[in-house]
Amino acid sequence: MGSGFRIGRLFGININIDWSWLLILVLVTWNLSAVFGQTHGDWGAALSWGVAFIAALLFFASVLAHELAHSLVARARGMPVRNITLFLFGGVSNIEREPPSAGGEFLMAIVGPLTSVVIGLVLTVAGGAAAGPLGDLSDPGQAIGQLGPVTTLVLWLGSVNILVGLFNMIPAFPLDGGRVLRSFFWAASGNLRQATRWASWIGQGVAWLLILVGISMVFGLQVPLLGSGPISGLWLVFIGWFLNSSASQSYRQVVIQDVLEGIPVSRMMRRNPPTVTPGLSVSSLVHDTVMQSDDHAFPVLEGGRLAGLVCLHDVRAVSREAWETTTVREIMTPAEELVTVTPDEQAVEALHKLQQRDVRQLPVIEDGSLAGLLRRQDVIKYLRLEQDMDVGRQRSEIGD
Ligand SMILES: [Zn+2]
Repeated sequence: MGSGFRIGRLFGININIDWSWLLILVLVTWNLSAVFGQTHGDWGAALSWGVAFIAALLFFASVLAHELAHSLVARARGMPVRNITLFLFGGVSNIEREPPSAGGEFLMAIVGPLTSVVIGLVLTVAGGAAAGPLGDLSDPGQAIGQLGPVTTLVLWLGSVNILVGLFNMIPAFPLDGGRVLRSFFWAASGNLRQATRWASWIGQGVAWLLILVGISMVFGLQVPLLGSGPISGLWLVFIGWFLNSSASQSYRQVVIQDVLEGIPVSRMMRRNPPTVTPGLSVSSLVHDTVMQSDDHAFPVLEGGRLAGLVCLHDVRAVSREAWETTTVREIMTPAEELVTVTPDEQAVEALHKLQQRDVRQLPVIEDGSLAGLLRRQDVIKYLRLEQDMDVGRQRSEIGD
């Protein structure tokens, strides 16, 4: 997922917005104002745009409620929640661990769509009551045209929430419906990896089906509820493509976690990595250390303790003329800004740190002194030895 920004904190969980979500805000507002322009010709541009914008924001709030439901259940079940990110296709809760049991997985997955459907039904009933009898329903367009702004908004939001709930129940892992399916497979087989494999196969099957239907719609196939034409068709292809890649990616993630389960950092870290001292000139660093090694980063030791880490990136920032007069201390990342691990820490946790901080290596610290260096490539090598996997794809999964 791309970058974004934090908008706040709810129940102790950071709420982030990905830039792609702003695109959806604009599209939903634009599309809705166009719809209101047709159904409510008497509203005028300002009212149409205003109601559309508020509707889009409330849609965002209901997606957030859906994700919060997942996150709160996850946390109650002992799974730490890093944050919630809203992006192009809705939201994701970044939950740090796989659920501990099939039952926990089921509950955590089902509560999201349930929240959407309940919100949807409540709003639809409330909106229906406020609208009162609509008279002649032989012309729905005219019936909707009689509704005031608030009733229109409430009814729209109600139906959209029901749709969000239903869409998420499509059995395409990692969508909620796919997770519900996985919890059944898990309960039946007792094996999370096997259950994930089956759920992700079905997820990829559903994704390809959506792609095929989408292409057929581009070429004029009329599908009930979805309609026809290039725009709806391509949108469906896009969703199918996205589901397909997330299904296979989630499966690899589970395999990696499974392989690393119970393995401490000490099993894959590099002992005695080349180190340097803070007083060294950049010139000596380059000639005597960097050029003699395949490493990208070097721990800086001062009196046996870790003082920082210097990497090729830091060297590149120094102009060549200044190499003799600049010391490692001036360009290194100081120890207090580094993320470190201990030899006993779980490799899975270390991998999370590597991915989350987007760094290539972590210094391994034991009793205050440097015990080794854990590099991404070491983790990849270990996975390659342990598991007959497509390492090229796995590499991109780890982000190397
Ligand atoms: Zn969900």
